[in-house]
Amino acid sequence: MSRFLPHQVDPFQFAEQEGRLQGLTSLKNMSRLSEATAGTDEHEVFADLRFSIQASGICVLYGRVETQLRMICQRCLGLVTVEINRGLELALVRSEAEAALVQDKYEAYQVEKNDTLLIPDLIEEELLLALPFVPMHAHRAQCEQAMLQILKRNSGEQFSENDKNPFAVLKDLKLN
Ligand SMILES: [Zn+2]
Repeated sequence: MSRFLPHQVDPFQFAEQEGRLQGLTSLKNMSRLSEATAGTDEHEVFADLRFSIQASGICVLYGRVETQLRMICQRCLGLVTVEINRGLELALVRSEAEAALVQDKYEAYQVEKNDTLLIPDLIEEELLLALPFVPMHAHRAQCEQAMLQILKRNSGEQFSENDKNPFAVLKDLKLN
């Protein structure tokens, strides 16, 4: 079996066979996720997805998604790595009417036409829901560390732009 998950499956057919998918999906084309975060060190997200049909006939997806994302710390404005490990329990439905029927017991996820579940879309949605509302380093010391790095980087940029630096201007003034 490939390390990577298929792009799409028919979840209802899959659930008939109590199917399970484990593997990776690329984070590369998840544009909403990349807008909501500061990108990622990881290039993939790991997902474990189990499909089954309940006695009531509802198609349920259990599983989890796991990755690391980078966000902006709201205390120091530096980068903070956020560990995501989200458990899933979703009823897969074909319409809003079906979603309304299961909403007391499950969170519903509507599949595409022709019973197609687009796996990267589902995973992106779940990752967006898992993002912390106020991302922050766990300890103040980490914020101080991050601020030091920003300062170092900024001063590094100044030195590399020698041509434009104020000392060069002063030299010209002395010549006059
Ligand atoms: Zn911080």
